[in-house]
Amino acid sequence: MSYIVALTGGIGSGKSTVAESFARHGVSIVDADIIARQVVAPGEPALKQLHQRFGHEIILADGSLNRPALRERIFSYPPDKEWVNHLLHPIIHARTQQLFAQADTPYVLWVVPLLIENGLQTRVNRVLVVDIEPQIQLSRTMLRDGISRQQAENIIAAQVTREKRLACADDIIDNSGDPKSIEPRVALLHRRYLEFAASVNRQDIAKHD
Ligand code: ADP
Repeated sequence: MSYIVALTGGIGSGKSTVAESFARHGVSIVDADIIARQVVAPGEPALKQLHQRFGHEIILADGSLNRPALRERIFSYPPDKEWVNHLLHPIIHARTQQLFAQADTPYVLWVVPLLIENGLQTRVNRVLVVDIEPQIQLSRTMLRDGISRQQAENIIAAQVTREKRLACADDIIDNSGDPKSIEPRVALLHRRYLEFAASVNRQDIAKHD
């Protein structure tokens, strides 16, 4: 079992930017958003089950999942939301564990935007939060996603508060400034995580002796 560092933060805080920086150090990255999309890709059993339950209205012409249609459907009827979670969570969990096991680096960086919202922080060795000033978060999100201030504010309001997220953090990267300023911080954390991972792995070996 690898040493797992969870990387989380609000929308537009800079998770992808920070993850790219860790990747340049050769760290294995497991991305929760990518997994969530892969498990419902065309041809996947989970997509067939969604299709059977909700019908053609949640499938696009090219055979892929119509996410907004599914979101609309489960938003208006909580038992459907529960059904979908019940279907997808074990598949996502299994796929995530498989990728953790396949990683051949001393630790894995698990990029997981909804870590705190889904109560997953207890499953990892370390929580790294990307933090950002709220006004900068708003403007970067609007710029990147081409959305209005109101839309960005709505998304942020639906996420866990900055205070709650920071309260769960073992480590914090402040990404309010120049992107270059995160490089030395990432380098330092990388060295620290290598040491933590080595010490946990040593304990594991001792346990099995
Ligand atoms: P997240 O993955 O947390 O949603 P991103 O890494 O995609 O956030 O960053 C959000 C947007 O802000 C992107 O367009 C990214 O290029 C930009 N960005 C990230 N960090 C900085 C920074 N330090 N300075 C300026 N722009 C940044």
